[in-house]
Amino acid sequence: MPYKNTDKNREYQKNWARKNQSKMLAKRNIRRKKYMLKAIEMKGGLCTECGTTEELQFHHPDPSNKVASVSRLIRDKGWATIEKEVNKCVLVCKGCHERIHVIK
Ligand SMILES: [Zn+2]
Ligand SMILES: [Zn+2]
Repeated sequence: MPYKNTDKNREYQKNWARKNQSKMLAKRNIRRKKYMLKAIEMKGGLCTECGTTEELQFHHPDPSNKVASVSRLIRDKGWATIEKEVNKCVLVCKGCHERIHVIK
């Protein structure tokens, strides 16, 4: 058994895992951004309440058919799932979204 190298190996493996993880995270971030943009584009690219293009979010007008929030699906699911959920939503900006939920 190559006892001598165990520590070194472990260190190497740790570094490799760390490096690989950040690479994977970066890749995932790019994918998320792409899905987010695609979803926003699909809904016309602006807030249905005030028309802004800033800080857009997805609101479920009918919460009973909500599977999960779109941002959550974008984090862990494929486009087909995201698209289905986006179709149930309206695009609103952060401010309008908060207002909708306060009123309701
Ligand atoms: Zn708005
Ligand atoms: Zn909402």
